[in-house]
Amino acid sequence: MMLIRSRHFLVVSLILSSVFLIAQGSPAPVSPKARSIHNSAIVVDTHADTPQRFLDENYNIGSTDPNDVGHISLDKARAGNLGAEFFSIWVEPTTNQGHFARHTLDLIDSVYEQAARHPDRMMMAFSVEDIKRAHKKKKLAALMGIEGGHSIENDIRLLRDFYRLGVRYMTLSWSNTNEWADSSGDIDDPKIQHHNGLTDFGKQVVLEMNRLGMMVDISHVSDKTFWDTIATTKAPVIASHSSARALTNHPRNMTDEMLRAVAKNGGVVQVNFFSAFVDENFRQAEEAQKKDRDAAVTDYMARRAAAGLPVSYVDRDRIEREWMAKIPRPPLSSLIDHIDHIAKVAGVDHVGLGSDFDGVSGATPQGIDSAADLPKITQALLDRGYSAGDIRKILGGNLLRVFREVERVSGGMQAGESHKRVIVF
Ligand SMILES: [Zn+2]
Repeated sequence: MMLIRSRHFLVVSLILSSVFLIAQGSPAPVSPKARSIHNSAIVVDTHADTPQRFLDENYNIGSTDPNDVGHISLDKARAGNLGAEFFSIWVEPTTNQGHFARHTLDLIDSVYEQAARHPDRMMMAFSVEDIKRAHKKKKLAALMGIEGGHSIENDIRLLRDFYRLGVRYMTLSWSNTNEWADSSGDIDDPKIQHHNGLTDFGKQVVLEMNRLGMMVDISHVSDKTFWDTIATTKAPVIASHSSARALTNHPRNMTDEMLRAVAKNGGVVQVNFFSAFVDENFRQAEEAQKKDRDAAVTDYMARRAAAGLPVSYVDRDRIEREWMAKIPRPPLSSLIDHIDHIAKVAGVDHVGLGSDFDGVSGATPQGIDSAADLPKITQALLDRGYSAGDIRKILGGNLLRVFREVERVSGGMQAGESHKRVIVF
């Protein structure tokens, strides 16, 4: 009897907790149908900042620590059927002043070292074929994208070297305007020297990326840089981690006009999961606390500097996390609204996933706590009437199509010029 009573109690508490979860706006569990669609896809995410952890924290991607708040581990990737991750090679421009390329190299090394530590579950990948090979072997394909053109130190030779080391996309700017591309991050700052978009050298960088077969990433750039890039590129572009401005009014997001231009160009917009980019209420709350949050970070850095101690990304991130946690998390539907909007405006062939995992100080919508939660996105798309085929495109098929086309354009440009190639720059 005791058993029956306690079982009854369990059923009642399960019902109560589900009602509570639904009231909280948490997503429903993943159905067998959604799980099966999700697992039939090659899931590609184009932006994770985990290399900062590899380098600063000596984080091991094989970690099984249940208390680790990071978004990416091999277990989490496996649970979410994540097939390929583009690890972000992001060089913080203030603390690395004077040695951008060296820090770029250190971050590239950190990704290779993780792959070397886990050869049974992870492999470096440099092409669409590599991603497919990794998928067959049930390994996580590790790719790299440089986030911020300042990494090449205005030297086209370094761009080629980074390609040779395996970098397969470059975001033309991060939040900082560099010497050849304006950024959306400081476009209103009169102290920064802007160029009205891309300079002539910036256009040469885009064309050299086309020739090499490196995807041109327009996330973070100013609106004018975006339009200059679209007018210059000979291959489809990507937005590795950007959402829709019509829904969340942030300059990092893309206007409907830009979404349509990416569709015309044949490219893909990979939706960023950051709560401040996918939910207008969160964005406003985040903006309202920005002054105090920045002051807390500056104060911490000043105290470290006074004590002669370095400041790592992880230290800063810890403070940012405390502030972000003060704002209520948006529902998962906010993120899905962005995927849906881009699919409607640009077309279902031009939208994908660019999580920004490990780069958003823990601020993701409810239900998305790590790569293990990616199947919930498939469930939500299924609930909104998306077909299995379209869901597979969003999960990775579109990105693979664009990557293949970038490889094809590169092959054509190189075939046409190899016999007459001279040192151009
Ligand atoms: Zn970014």
